[in-house]
Amino acid sequence: MEWTRSETLGLSTHSCVLCNGLGLRVSENCEDAAPCNCVLRNIFRACYARFCDISKQEKFLSQACLEAIQGRDGKRVWSRKDEEYVADFTLVARRSLSEADYQIFKYHFLLGADWKMCCGKLKMDRGNFFHSVNRIQSKLGRVYRDVEPYALFPLSEYFHGEQKIVSSIRYTIEKVVPIRPPMRKVPPAALPSGLRIVASNSARTKLAA
Ligand SMILES: [Zn+2]
Repeated sequence: MEWTRSETLGLSTHSCVLCNGLGLRVSENCEDAAPCNCVLRNIFRACYARFCDISKQEKFLSQACLEAIQGRDGKRVWSRKDEEYVADFTLVARRSLSEADYQIFKYHFLLGADWKMCCGKLKMDRGNFFHSVNRIQSKLGRVYRDVEPYALFPLSEYFHGEQKIVSSIRYTIEKVVPIRPPMRKVPPAALPSGLRIVASNSARTKLAA
């Protein structure tokens, strides 16, 4: 995904000392420009604000809308954008974050716990907690912007953009390893009377009278 200055300029923090408010950081060794963390965090905040708005609104405000799908058939499908957005917001975070970061994301952003409750629950100090929160915001901001085919940001494209053609992925199975069925155990009652099973040191069993 290519980042341009015209896109990051409006999302950057003007007081940022890393990008000087431009939103793009160009390293000396690499010609490709990378977005500054202030841009990524602002993308996450915009997505999170929309998530909070949808979560707080009354359920009857959610609407089903009819959308047209591109192609020769010209099919139309029903969708519920608000519910889809909430599902995408949480599931993309679950797939992108590590288990430790997702615990912080869940307690602080999804459940709304403040830093004191999170630090007590997760046994963290205040500095490490806020470092983790900044790292989570930057990582999810990039993921929400880059995820395909439907990026969560810009929000206007997610909710009002055109439908995209998605092709299914076919996986090829190169080598199939069959699973051996479990060994059938002979019940003791099936043995003739007077016989018993003795296990030898070489893990073989034999019948002894
Ligand atoms: Zn910056």
